[in-house]
Amino acid sequence: TAKERQSGVEVYDAAADGHDRGRLVLLSEFRRGMAEGHLVLHYQPKVSLRTGAVVGLEALVRWEHPTRGLLLPGDFLPAVEQTGLIEPLTDCVLDLALAQVRAWTEQGVAVPVAVNLSARSVHRPDLPARVLSALASHGIPAGMLRLELTESALVAEPARARDVLGRLHSAGVSLSIDDFGTGYSSMGRVKNLPVSEVKIDRSFIAEMATTTEDAALVRSVVDLGHELGLTVVAEGVEDPATAAALAELGCDVGQGYLYAAPMGAAEMTDWLAGRLP
Ligand code: C2E
Ligand code: CA
Ligand code: CA
Ligand code: CA
Repeated sequence: TAKERQSGVEVYDAAADGHDRGRLVLLSEFRRGMAEGHLVLHYQPKVSLRTGAVVGLEALVRWEHPTRGLLLPGDFLPAVEQTGLIEPLTDCVLDLALAQVRAWTEQGVAVPVAVNLSARSVHRPDLPARVLSALASHGIPAGMLRLELTESALVAEPARARDVLGRLHSAGVSLSIDDFGTGYSSMGRVKNLPVSEVKIDRSFIAEMATTTEDAALVRSVVDLGHELGLTVVAEGVEDPATAAALAELGCDVGQGYLYAAPMGAAEMTDWLAGRLP
């Protein structure tokens, strides 16, 4: 906060005030940008490490800012996540992703899409209803949508999160644990959730060729994941040697710059041509 009270004297912190004002400007621009259709999705393929087939896409939000150019989630999500704007963002991303799935379906391209959920969204009691109405309004079967969430999202109110996830799962939406291996991760917790996929955080993938501990973690997540019947995805696969090492360990799916960087929908349509059955 800009002003702190210290024994009755107001201390003015100019740096903090500038920071707060910047944040407020960003948030009000964001609200307008979202209403004016400046949020767009880029898509990145998830590829079978065994066959090379595309098994799905992840949708990643970007903000086409009128003066600052294309902004990445890291530029605005942390501020947005602290406000009530995160819920409209989740709704907006769901609508954009499902409209695109619909467009691809109409072109004969059937590819499931994963959408990221912020921790707050996982605690929204109306999330399952919102997701199902978005699916219905775009005429998309639930099996075409996957939701990615981090385990930290489940720590605050596990009972509420479990209820929301259970209802999504029952409706046929697949759930995925993102950034696995960081923070509060534990297979013990995942085991008790209706999830079908874990994504190993890219920090472990980047180091697995050179660091024994990271390779060991990847190996144990793959083995434990398979024992629990989960699909195991490696994020941030950047080179063929890492892809080969992952395939050797039995990891199911890779995602990363080796295959493709995230790209706009039109570019993805071209990229997919000839790569899908
Ligand atoms: P994430 O879900 O872990 O997404 C993967 C991030 O890694 C993306 O960054 C992607 O561009 C980047 N990436 C992909 N392949 C590689 C690679 O080979 N090497 C490296 N170094 N990076 C790679 P991005 O798009 O900047 O997104 C950052 C984070 O923002 C995401 O991390 C996710 O947590 C969040 N996010 C993105 N879109 C949404 C959204 O629609 N809603 C919410 N709530 N969060 C989102
Ligand atoms: Ca993700
Ligand atoms: Ca991730
Ligand atoms: Ca991440």
